[in-house]
Amino acid sequence: MSEQDSLRPGELSVAPPKAGDAGLEFIGRIHTPWANRADCPRHGKPDGPLCRIELFEPWALALQGIEAYARLEVLYWLDRARRDLVQQSPKNDGRTLGSFALRSPLRPNPIGTAVVVLESRQGNSLLVRGLDCLDGTPLLDLKPEYCPFSGAGNAGAANPRG
Ligand code: SAM
Repeated sequence: MSEQDSLRPGELSVAPPKAGDAGLEFIGRIHTPWANRADCPRHGKPDGPLCRIELFEPWALALQGIEAYARLEVLYWLDRARRDLVQQSPKNDGRTLGSFALRSPLRPNPIGTAVVVLESRQGNSLLVRGLDCLDGTPLLDLKPEYCPFSGAGNAGAANPRG
């Protein structure tokens, strides 16, 4: 366990129950410039560096039509995060908050989400800006931020590439 993984004053971990199988499948891998957490932004920005989302086979076919959208929501698995913290001290000052009151990567099911700007598609890869995950982070899902088929109240007109 690295120093980054050790508990800070006031933080609390629990012995988690045995993990069940949620049936998740890693459908790809995210390539970013950041090899370690110290360099990685806490929240991606739309003008951040270009990152590549690679889809594994057989999922490339599921990208059909995605070029029509300017912004995508990306869900990823924060695979290097500890999963046993219930109280965390984001500023390492002894003051704590519950894990569900934070967007910290350290959570029982370490799912990260980001809305990214789609720059282009290259075969089974998408070039995007706005990510905040480590190089090699597993991809869980991709969807348009808004979609004309989402039903009432969607802002579909705001999302298509124009
Ligand atoms: N945007 C996502 C969200 O809000 O769900 C993630 C936010 S989280 C604060 C971003 C931080 O998670 C990064 O600064 C980095 O420290 C950490 N992180 C990124 N990729 C990770 C990975 N694969 N495993 C563990 N931690 C990761």
